[in-house]
Amino acid sequence: MGRKNRQPLAERIAEAAERSLTAHNYVSPIDVLMSIGWLTPDAERRWRHGRTDSLECVAQVGLSRLSEAITLLRCWAIEKDLFASATDYVSRTPQRQQLGISRSENPEVEQSYRTHWVSPELSNKKRERLSQKISQAPELVVIQPLNTAWTCHRCARTGDLLVMDGQGPACLRCAGLDDLEFLPAGDALLTRRVKARSPRSAVVVRFSKRRKRYERQGLLVETPALTEVRREVEAQRRG
Ligand SMILES: [Zn+2]
Repeated sequence: MGRKNRQPLAERIAEAAERSLTAHNYVSPIDVLMSIGWLTPDAERRWRHGRTDSLECVAQVGLSRLSEAITLLRCWAIEKDLFASATDYVSRTPQRQQLGISRSENPEVEQSYRTHWVSPELSNKKRERLSQKISQAPELVVIQPLNTAWTCHRCARTGDLLVMDGQGPACLRCAGLDDLEFLPAGDALLTRRVKARSPRSAVVVRFSKRRKRYERQGLLVETPALTEVRREVEAQRRG
């Protein structure tokens, strides 16, 4: 046990929140819980992928401690004059389901976890943009597996690309994404515009053994949007 664990909870929360605010201009209850070690990165990842019933049921501490921490964060944020901004948590799976937070599904408790606290030092415009960014649904991630000997847990087939859903790897057909077209990374303008225009999109990643992390390979987007934007961008580039 280090010094950290003997520190009063209010101080640990304030320190974690302060760090997060400095780094991101906002503080989220989940970041703070992770920062004080009450939520492990692995538990958070499983929750984000919709593989747990609720966030509270994968935390390292019980409900009363969690509620204490969230209340302390709220007090700290109010004292600092931070702005409250509500966020929806949507799963990083094709189903895009709302992620459950509390075991009780109590709306008040859910609300307290959804509240992000934004720095008052930002201009109104910047704050608005940040709130928008925070509440955006996370990108859907499609994996180009290094090991091609995988099977879809739904149809038992395989393929070049897979999506992790609540139960395991699924093929694009079972995930309802097989009509999307691949746009390789590299053209930033085209990518940005197509992404904004395509009602559905997913980022394609592949694990780099050398760099030990997932790297973006490109985007899967809807064909009509890609065709349209490609034409616009080409016309623009011809001048
Ligand atoms: Zn399948």
